[in-house]
Amino acid sequence: MAKKTAKKSKPTKMVYYFGKTKTEGKNVGKDILGGKGLNLADMTSIGLPVPPGITITTQVCADYYKGGKKLPKGLMDEVHDGVATLEKELKKKFGDNKNPLLVSVRSGAAVSMPGMMNTILNLGLTDESVVALANATNNQRFAYDAYRRLIDMFGDVVMEIDREHFEHAFTAIKKKYNASQDNEVPAEGLVELCNEYKAIYKKYTGEDFPQDPMKQLELAIEAVFKSWNTTRAVRYREVEGIRGLLGTAVNVQSMAYGNMGQDCGTGVAFTRNPSTGENKFYGEFLIDAQGEDVVAGIRTPQPVAEMSKWNRTVYKQLLEIKDTLEAHYKDVQDIEFTIEKGELFMLQTRNGKRTGAAAVKIACDMVKEGLIDEQTALLRIPANDLTQLLLPSFTPESKKNAKVLTIGLPASPGAAVGALAFTAEEAVERSHAGEKVLLVRKETSPEDIDGMHSAVGILTSTGGMTSHAAVVARGWGRCCVAGAGEVEIDQKGRKIKVGGKTYKHSDILSIDGSTGQVMEGSVETSEPKLSGDFAKVMKWADEYRTLGVRTNADTPKDSQRARDFGAEGIGLCRTEHMFFEEDRITSMREMILAETEEDRRAALAKLLPFQREDFVGIFTAMKNLPVTVRLLDPPLHEFLPHDPKAQKEMAEMLGVSPAKVKSRVAALHEANPMLGHRGCRLSVTYPEILEMQVTAIVEAAIECKKNRVNAMPEIMIPLVGTAAELALLRAKAEETIEKTKQDQGYKGELDILIGTMIEIPRAALTANEVAEHAEFFSFGTNDLTQMTFGYSRDDVNTFLPDYTRLEILPTDPFQSLDTSGVGQLVEMGVTKGRKGRKGLKCGICGEHGGDPASINFCHTVGLDYVSCSPFRVPIARLAAAQAAIRNGK
Ligand code: PEP
Ligand code: MG
Repeated sequence: MAKKTAKKSKPTKMVYYFGKTKTEGKNVGKDILGGKGLNLADMTSIGLPVPPGITITTQVCADYYKGGKKLPKGLMDEVHDGVATLEKELKKKFGDNKNPLLVSVRSGAAVSMPGMMNTILNLGLTDESVVALANATNNQRFAYDAYRRLIDMFGDVVMEIDREHFEHAFTAIKKKYNASQDNEVPAEGLVELCNEYKAIYKKYTGEDFPQDPMKQLELAIEAVFKSWNTTRAVRYREVEGIRGLLGTAVNVQSMAYGNMGQDCGTGVAFTRNPSTGENKFYGEFLIDAQGEDVVAGIRTPQPVAEMSKWNRTVYKQLLEIKDTLEAHYKDVQDIEFTIEKGELFMLQTRNGKRTGAAAVKIACDMVKEGLIDEQTALLRIPANDLTQLLLPSFTPESKKNAKVLTIGLPASPGAAVGALAFTAEEAVERSHAGEKVLLVRKETSPEDIDGMHSAVGILTSTGGMTSHAAVVARGWGRCCVAGAGEVEIDQKGRKIKVGGKTYKHSDILSIDGSTGQVMEGSVETSEPKLSGDFAKVMKWADEYRTLGVRTNADTPKDSQRARDFGAEGIGLCRTEHMFFEEDRITSMREMILAETEEDRRAALAKLLPFQREDFVGIFTAMKNLPVTVRLLDPPLHEFLPHDPKAQKEMAEMLGVSPAKVKSRVAALHEANPMLGHRGCRLSVTYPEILEMQVTAIVEAAIECKKNRVNAMPEIMIPLVGTAAELALLRAKAEETIEKTKQDQGYKGELDILIGTMIEIPRAALTANEVAEHAEFFSFGTNDLTQMTFGYSRDDVNTFLPDYTRLEILPTDPFQSLDTSGVGQLVEMGVTKGRKGRKGLKCGICGEHGGDPASINFCHTVGLDYVSCSPFRVPIARLAAAQAAIRNGK
């Protein structure tokens, strides 16, 4: 039998080296090396001072999980080789008793997840090598400080020992040596502390702290892989919509020490201000400290501008590196650096997270500086982040009178007013119950992520501008004041003390994330003004986009606001909202209770003037722009009260018996109201409703024309499933238009388009037939999603969280269009519709019309416009431009 020749494929490389000896990862993608790994390789290759190291790929993380949480075969051999190269390059040895090599072990996925995964520093220290380090550096204090940090971090991250045990021991030592700050504990105190830490380690793990550095490294690598799937990391990815990654890479990098004395330090900085976008180096540093001291907000750092007083040369060098990095990446960088005995080392760079306001300013400035072009600038601004620019701020007048209790750091701009919640769980619960809360914490940690997301604002008493709370809040555009040191928090007692007064959980405070002010009570907020760079970005967006942007509005005020935001008409005016107002609901109910057509018409006649006036207001606000008015859509029971008390009141008001109301409510009851007697089906049964609404539209248009206001109404018939339904109702609408014109004695032109919504899959499937009776289609993707998936829009949340968590669905399909399923129906609707009627105007008016990813899809299938809520209009304009740039016009 012929021997099968096994094809030997080259084993996949698992470890990449970066350093003076070689830089292997330069052209390997971010998906494999992770953001941190790729940028370390990048910085090394452009000659920046980076401590050498190795990166273990994200593929290894995926293989670790695939193999049942086991490090893949051969990995540690490759790690050994890497460490050997490192030893040669640095002339140090791992675990050496003369000149030991120490490394940091950090996670780094392709998308940055600040503070979400674990880091271990000073790895390689043992009882023996700590003595060697003390001798080699002639600094016993430093060596034992490094050792205690390692035992603490290793114990916490790898062995899951509660950090509190270490903290208690440290507090006791500080007390014993009369030290108020960590760095005031003398060397002998730290030696003592290391012994205590080792005892704690043994007590809670049953083992001695590992004395083999390679074993330490292996366990640490595994711990980083494990951290990829902790609840907080999974939750962060969910909230941020991060999907499809292989896992995290692991960066093992030789240590540079910021904690060797007063000529050492560490810091984090942004090449431009990430809150405002100002082109000014911005950051913080701590003398004699290691990186996590800055990030965790344990000590309050100094602004980086102060650095020149401490070490001019290093500061100058840092400024030069800032320019090199911006020229290289052509974007704002968020860097971490360490100064060891006056020598600067770069530990990390990544594109800096920024607020929406900063994103806009930076994009405009970089175009001015010639770093990027307009198209790149538009693509740089996450469209959803514009929401932050549309956020309210405090009015100057109310601010003047506000009682400022204290001023913290302006960590993330905006204005937030709320009651005080003291834990993440409390913030989630109370927000779900509809309360606006501020999450008040000493400092936040990644476990607080849910609470931070639920709260309207975040207030912390320690931590700097780059603390966890600040970074996360800025990323979300959530208002945050950090480091308000005068706020004394009593978490158990659910109260705070500030400015000599105590505030409990039910008290309201106002925080200003742009100034850091914490104020008593509810301070009045105001809407933002959209000018300057924002206007410039909008102008560029309008030049590049081909999609129109309309709004969903049903009041003159909303219409005006949307117009101010740049809406080019109304894509959906939901008329039912108009019937809920106090002066109309009674007539509406009268209409519903009516038993004869005559009585119904009588009630409708009372509603007509209200409708007409509403339309006059809206058409006037939208003069010269199209206004698509949708005829009544919801099932009639929605207008009736369901509880007996309210039914009794209604009966009294209408002069009928409560039994009559009750029986009508019962008669209108439907098992599946969303699939019931609603939409165009109402007009089929009760054509007089359509007649009243069309009459009101036409009368309003005529009144506007008489007032020299060019009204451009379009009549939209909802929930059509067959061409015959539309044919019937279109004929009725046309007849009513003609009749009203005659009744009004109007002889001029009234070019009112009649179209339909595509909300039922059958309408999309038969779009060519439907289009014969429609001058436009508007895709109602809320209902279309509901009916395509068979998920009730109202009840989907009972199971949707499981579906997204288990990745059965990539996202909530009611928020972001399911392009592969529902999208096919939209595409088919457009194509077939335009076969039935050449040049058929097509738009979308479901919630997806304001979602950037869905807007991209709408562009690709050739819709004419999207329609969204007023506040999302600027987002849609930008997203439409981005779609045009990405896909070619
Ligand atoms: C839709 O179904 O997408 C739509 C816009 O209509 P409504 O949300 O009012 O049902
Ligand atoms: Mg609908």
